[in-house]
Formats: sequence, structure tokens, C-alpha cells
Amino acid sequence: MAANQNSIQGPAASNGNASRLDSEFQLVSSLAKLQELERKIHELRQFMPQGLLEPLVPIANPNKATVNNPVAETPRVLRANLDETARARVADVQHFQSLWRDPELKSVWDHVESRINESNGQMMQPTGKWERDYDVLLKELSQEENSKIEQRQREDEEAERATAQSADGEWQKVLERFTERGVPGVRVNAENGADSLAVALVRVGVVFLLKGIPGPGTPVSEWEVSIQTGSRALTKMEISILDCVGSRPRKWDLTFLLDMVSSYADIKQTPCVKCTRLTNDGAQLPTLRRPQPNQQFAEGQPRIYAFDALHSGCA
Ligand SMILES: [Zn+2]
Repeated sequence: MAANQNSIQGPAASNGNASRLDSEFQLVSSLAKLQELERKIHELRQFMPQGLLEPLVPIANPNKATVNNPVAETPRVLRANLDETARARVADVQHFQSLWRDPELKSVWDHVESRINESNGQMMQPTGKWERDYDVLLKELSQEENSKIEQRQREDEEAERATAQSADGEWQKVLERFTERGVPGVRVNAENGADSLAVALVRVGVVFLLKGIPGPGTPVSEWEVSIQTGSRALTKMEISILDCVGSRPRKWDLTFLLDMVSSYADIKQTPCVKCTRLTNDGAQLPTLRRPQPNQQFAEGQPRIYAFDALHSGCA
């Protein structure tokens, strides 16, 4: 089982550098950066004078004129080209400096310096070539680590699901807790004797019907969602909402579902987290809901999930 903190987010988001203090990972990451620096040094060597004088090349040797580096038509154009080339080279040098001063490399330089001091100023003798491509190795290690995290998350969720489904009356407790919170704009009605609920978003005029689907050994193995329309057809907005809710994770989890459908209670006032607008160019509201990244939940406390709103085109 998980420690006292669980994350529902995928590995990419929950997997910041701070959590990667694994030493092999650190070593490979530092070596990859050193390799990148070395590549840059070779590039920088070409700057003087070839790089800076590039616009002169087609003038001295018209055979070398290209679409990207044509013969300058006037001295003024040539001057502008030389200026632009110089600015681009300065930017390259600045980029190199920022790589060099990367906080991760600081510890590498410190290490190198202490080794040189230990050996009385004797420089370490490298073999002169890179034995491995650390960029590739780093990618492999990242993938390995991410799949480990995913595996752990799957196991955690499986354990949660098993607990939630182990006892009769579990979802009724979830519903009770949700009702007690009194989420504004949301009214829930349970149908007596049936595993189904109606969740009304009073300000939006949408009523979700949640139906518990029984599974082997459990009264509710997952929740199915529809929208009550009576005789009318679903609106475009409702179809889009149902698409999003229907493709949610944790389909067994009523807490997650109730928080997700409630997050639509203010859809007409909730702007998109990506473009920060309420309606997009197609006059559509943000109908997508994505669990906020890196939500932490204390063990033993009832969870409350928070969602980000997005337009379907902004995902
Ligand atoms: Zn948007």
C-alpha cells in the first residue's frame, strides 16, 4: 500500500527532478549534460571567424550562395545580415553559459575541482571519447522509472478499489459524506432500493443519472453516467460533458465521480485553465475536466478531488 500520500497523476507530472535523487539517475543525467556541453563547445569553435562572417561567404565565393545565405543585394543588407549573424552567435554563447551554470552541473564542477585538489593539481586523463551516449541512456532510465511509478500507482488504485468494494453500503457512506459537504449548486437524490443516483446541477439545468453496475462479488463494480433529458435530444455541451465523464479514470470510485460531475456546476462561470477564456472561438464552454496535477491526499481522510476546466481544443 502507498505511504500516507497518494497521487492520482501520471508519472510525467508527479515525477519532478526533486524526487529523482537516485544516484545512478543523477550520474547519467549529469553525464548527458556534460556530453551536450562538449557538443556545444565544438559548435562554438566554428563561430570565430567562420560563423560570424557567414554572410561574406557567398560574396567571396558565389558558388556557396544558398537560399538561406544568398549574396547580399546592397551594402545595407549585408550590414544587417552581419548584425543578425552576430546577435545569433551571442545568443548561442549565452545559451552555452546557461548550460554551463546549470545548478545540476555545479555539483559536478565542485566534484572535479575537489578531485584535482586531491591529486595535487594533476588533471584527470580522459580516454578522449565518450563510451556511451548518455542522452539515450538517460531516456531509458527515465522510462524505466516512469513505468515503475505507473506500476505502483496501478497497485495502489487496485488496493483502494478492493477496499471500496469489499463491504456493502460503502458507496452510501461516500454519498452521505458528499451530501454533508453541501456543494453549492449541486443536489443529489438517491433512488430507494436501487444503486442509482440523480445529481442535479441547478444553475446549469443538467441532471446526471449515475447507475451502479454490479460486478462479481460486489454490488457496484463501476458507475455508468447518463444525462436526463426527457424527450429532448442532448445538447452539444451535454454530449461533450458525457464524453469526458465517460472516459474518466477510477470508474469504480463514486467520490471521484461526484466531485467530477459537481465541477460542472459553475461551467458557465469557469474559464479554461489553458487559454483563460470562458468561451472559445467556436462559442464552446470548457467542457473537459482534468484532475488537478499532484493532488495529495492524507491517509484516512475522505478525499476531495479538484479538477481543471479546459476547452476540448485546449487539452
Ligand atoms: Zn481554452
